[in-house]
Amino acid sequence: ENKGMHKFFTPKELINGDVAKIIGDDVKHIYKVLRISEGEKVTLNNCEGIEYLGKVISVSKQEVLIEILEKLEDNNESDIKIYLFQGLPKSQKMDLIVQKGTELGITEFIPTITHRVDVKLKGEFKKLDRLNRIALEAAKQSKRSIIPKVSEPIEFNAVLERINSLDLLIVPYENANNFGIKTLINELRKDNTTNTIKNVGIFVGPEGGFEEEEIVNIQDIDSKVVSLGPRILRTETASVVASSIVLYELSDLGG
Ligand code: SAH
Repeated sequence: ENKGMHKFFTPKELINGDVAKIIGDDVKHIYKVLRISEGEKVTLNNCEGIEYLGKVISVSKQEVLIEILEKLEDNNESDIKIYLFQGLPKSQKMDLIVQKGTELGITEFIPTITHRVDVKLKGEFKKLDRLNRIALEAAKQSKRSIIPKVSEPIEFNAVLERINSLDLLIVPYENANNFGIKTLINELRKDNTTNTIKNVGIFVGPEGGFEEEEIVNIQDIDSKVVSLGPRILRTETASVVASSIVLYELSDLGG
């Protein structure tokens, strides 16, 4: 019943007992664009996936106060978590990947530096704030229950280290022509392992792809190197496609 209601994310520190506060950019949006006023019901998310039904107490230019009416059990998260290790692409491609990936249900985006990454990172990754804002906006729009995180870029070898926290690491590789993602999913199903899979890593190469040596290294740690089909996809397409297939086959994408 409350699906059409506006949803806002506010950090859990601003939710005290039965009163929550919204500050920052959302305030102006609330009174100017959405014209929400006293008495209106809204959904609040504490930025960690817990959601509440609330009623607006007051709206000022500085803050919006909300009375917490009840905790909602609704959760729009899929039962598997997708961690996208994305070979860092040039220009605005990462924006697109974060936006579309958030809509699809990705949990974390991890920009990854591989041999053929052609982006110079000086000091801190400047785009991180912007990318996290894109994730926040897309999370609101698509009614996610969490805000996916865009992490600091990591090196190729750090992906190998994260394998222990994953149940499955899928590596799309255009030269893996004898092993498709369809075959992989069928195998998992036959082994009856699909319902034990909760944390899935997907590692997509940058524009220039992976080097053969990288594929050899990643195969050594028991990842699944797969083909996405006979046509070469751009890196941003490959990430969206691979995530879609996994969420469709193993979880709730497609309804
Ligand atoms: N090196 C290639 C293409 C790289 S495409 C070239 O320049 O011709 C960028 C990334 O997308 C790849 O590293 C891979 O992870 C993924 N990708 C694209 N098309 C794919 C396909 N048909 N099968 C599997 N992975 C693919």
